[in-house]
Amino acid sequence: MVSYLFGIVAKKGIQVKGETLAQCFLCNKGPTFGHNVSHSKRRTNRVWLPNVHKAVIRWGGRPRRIYICTRCLRTQAKLPR
Ligand SMILES: [Zn+2]
Repeated sequence: MVSYLFGIVAKKGIQVKGETLAQCFLCNKGPTFGHNVSHSKRRTNRVWLPNVHKAVIRWGGRPRRIYICTRCLRTQAKLPR
């Protein structure tokens, strides 16, 4: 079932060359899976994507453009320069 849901992720253009773009570089937060539940309790598969943004952070002493989640973005902003 999870492989089927990864198909949904690919359809949304999140997965490129087997690499999940909707994943945080720092904490590895990625897509989570579950059900939409209608009023009649009919369940259909759905996927939640993390709120990731492209950001430039210092990695190994050099600036690097990566995708990180908003939680890690906030943590980065609070780190001493
Ligand atoms: Zn993160």
